[in-house]
This record gives sequence, C-alpha cells and structure tokens, in this order.
Amino acid sequence: MFKKYFLAVLILFSASLPALSQTSDSLALKKLTDEILLNGKAYENLYRLCKSVGQRLSGSAGMYKGEEWGLQALKDAGAEKAYLQECMVPHWVRGQKEFAGFKTKKRAADPTFKVLAIGNSVGTGDKGVLAKVIEIANFDELDRRKDEVKGKIIFYNYHFNKTLLHSAYGDAVRYRGRGASAAAKYGAVAVIVRSVTAAYDDNPHTGALNYNDSFPKIPAVTISTKDADKLSNYLKGSYSEDDLFLRTNAMMLPDTLGHNVIGEIRGSEFPDEIITIGGHMDSWDPAEGASDDGTGMVHSIEVMRALNAIGYKPKHTIRIVLFANEENGGKGSAKYAQEALEKKEKHIMAMESDGGGEYPRGFSCGMTKEQFAKVDSWRKYFEPLDADKFLFSEGGGGGADIGPLQKNFKTAQFGLNTTGQRYFDMHHSAIDVFENVNAQELHLGAAVMATMVYLVDKYGL
Ligand SMILES: [Zn+2]
Repeated sequence: MFKKYFLAVLILFSASLPALSQTSDSLALKKLTDEILLNGKAYENLYRLCKSVGQRLSGSAGMYKGEEWGLQALKDAGAEKAYLQECMVPHWVRGQKEFAGFKTKKRAADPTFKVLAIGNSVGTGDKGVLAKVIEIANFDELDRRKDEVKGKIIFYNYHFNKTLLHSAYGDAVRYRGRGASAAAKYGAVAVIVRSVTAAYDDNPHTGALNYNDSFPKIPAVTISTKDADKLSNYLKGSYSEDDLFLRTNAMMLPDTLGHNVIGEIRGSEFPDEIITIGGHMDSWDPAEGASDDGTGMVHSIEVMRALNAIGYKPKHTIRIVLFANEENGGKGSAKYAQEALEKKEKHIMAMESDGGGEYPRGFSCGMTKEQFAKVDSWRKYFEPLDADKFLFSEGGGGGADIGPLQKNFKTAQFGLNTTGQRYFDMHHSAIDVFENVNAQELHLGAAVMATMVYLVDKYGL
C-alpha cells in the first residue's frame, strides 16, 4: 500500500516537474524582460553613441571614438572583462563633396543631382568625368546594349521592389554592389546607381561596392530616388544629347588598424563554451549609424546588462562583440572567427542584431533540425512579446558578422528579425540618426534577444 502510494506521488511529482520549471522560467523571463522594458539602458546608450561619437566608418577618427564608447558601455553593463581585439581594416575616404550635373553651353542654369560616392569606389579626381549618360533598367538591358556603353556614364535606374517585403534590398543592392564592374566590362567610364530604398526623398543612400579585378575600376555614385526620376526625365527630354559632369574625390588608402570590442562574463558551469552576441561598430558617414548598426550594439550590450541586473549567473561564457568593419570588408568578423579557431574555442550559439531597432518579430534560425526543434519548443516564451516568428533554414545564416563562426564551428545562428519596413528608408543615408529610433521598440528587441540567450544558456542547444 505504502509502496503504491509512494509510486503514485513520484509519478505525480515527476509529471509536474516540467510544468514547475516552465513556471519558474516564465517568472524569470518576465523579470528579465521587465527589467529591460522598465529600466533599459539601450536607448540612453544609443543617444550617447550617436551624439558624442557619430559616424564610425572603418579607419576614421569616429571608429576609434566608437571603440572607446564600446569599451566603456560594456564595462558599465557589468562585463567582467572588456578588451580590444586587433584587426586590420580597409580605409576608404570620401574626400570633398561630390558633384553631378549636366554641363552645356546652351543654358544659364543646368540641373544638378544629389549624389554620394559609393563606399570602396575610386574617385574621378578634380578633373571629373564628362560623358553622355545611358539609362539602364537592369543587367539584362546592359548586356543587350553593350555596344553603346563605351565611354559613357551608366545610370542604373533599378527600382526597389516594394512587393518583395523582406528581400527587396537583396534584390536591388546587386546594382550598387557590382554595377560598376558590370559596366566597366563594356567600357563605361562611371556609374550612377539609384538609391537602394523604398523611400522617395532627396537622400542618396551609400553602401559598399566590390570591384571585379578583371575590369578597370571606375567611379561610382548613388543618387537619391527623387533625383533618379529627375535625371531619367531629363534624359528623355531636352538633355538627351548633353554631357553630364561627375566629380568625386573618394579614394582607398592603405589598410589601417581597427578593433573588435569585446565584453565577457565567464560561465559558471561551462566557461569554455561560448555564447556570442553582437552588432557591428562601423557605420557609413552621412549620418550617425543609429539604426545601422548602433541599435544592434546597444541591443547586445543590454542583454548583458539585464542578465546582471536580475542577478542571473550564466552557465556558459557570454561574450558581447562589437564587430569592426561589417560594411566594407567584414574584417572584424573574419578575425574573430579565425582567432576562435586558433584558440580552439567552443561556440555553442551566436546571435546578431543588424536589422535596426524596429519592432522585433523573431529570429532567422540557421542550425540543425534537432536544434531547431528545441528552439521551436520555446516559442511560448516569445508570445508575450509578440515576437514568436522563427524562420528555420538548416545550416542557414543569421547575419554577416556571425556567419564565419558557422563556417568554422557550425555554430547555431540567430539573426534578430524586425518588421523592417522603415529600416531601408534611413539605411546608409543622412537620416540614419538617433531621432528615427523608438525607445520602446528598441528595448523590445533587446528583451527578445535576452529571452533566447537565457533559454539557450539554461538548456543548451
Ligand atoms: Zn549593418
């Protein structure tokens, strides 16, 4: 009888174990996310970054100021150890303000256009480039009209496809990334690329290009969406036979020393197993790099601060990494993964935030099916934050900065996804400023990240 009773109690008790831990996890997670939503420092940190540091292009004075800000922010968040990891980065400079305008002797005032040199591009030098412009809708048209290209400026007027929701950027950015070499292949002297954005305004959006070494390096600029339409109209009308004068003084200097900025809390049970969480330090120069990627850095730092604030002792080593040079080289992420390999580190998960500070929706999960099954079982913890959308791809990526870890260690990847419908309005342009980030949305992003970090740290992957 006693035995029977004991067994029944045992069965009852063990059946309620998962329920108990679920409740204690729900309570701990509520405490963690409330800490961020009520006492979060991410917004304040972002303000300091944007207003006291500003742009942080690789190799610039802003990059070094950003590194100092990062070290201090990590210490303030409770990092036991905060340090710099050296890496060589490209040093591209914009030079004096760019100019693009028709040049004729016929009229008193010829139209000019708002342009910005594309990162990594060569400049025209002071003498500029004077040539006729050919408008091209896409690469197919370029190939069809290749015999007309020699000696001309190619104007890629490819529109951001608003029906693609989350892949419009990837679709349109091809023209910024490889349009210069594609046109140089047929003898073009420069390219003008319609800004990669859904916004219709006067802000050119820069970004990086990659030259194909098989062809001459020609100058490349991006033009605001409004001025792209203006240029297109002029080319259809009375300026069709006129030359356009383009001047940029951009140039690539020798590589220079930059750093990944790293803050760590040592794990209590598995100190040799590492959880990496990060965003990137560098940003384009027209503004403050608030959404790209100030928000990703302050998200990551906030995860560490909040875990400390509620007194949570991580089992695994938590490492916050502010990666150098994501925008025009990826040297910081490559260095981090290479050093990890040399030190034979074990990386159990990596998380990246590089989609802005908008309302979080969930994660892109690049991992094995077995790992994802576990992650998927935690969905209920994300429902209170309305961010339970997990997009699985076996072995898929979570972002540019954590990608090399996956290559070296097959580390599970989490890329924070936001609604992302405003991000590209600001992206790489003069309006990527602090004022365009919402405090509550920003803190929600950190809360969603912290929730996943807590679960992976507690239960492993
Ligand atoms: Zn970015």
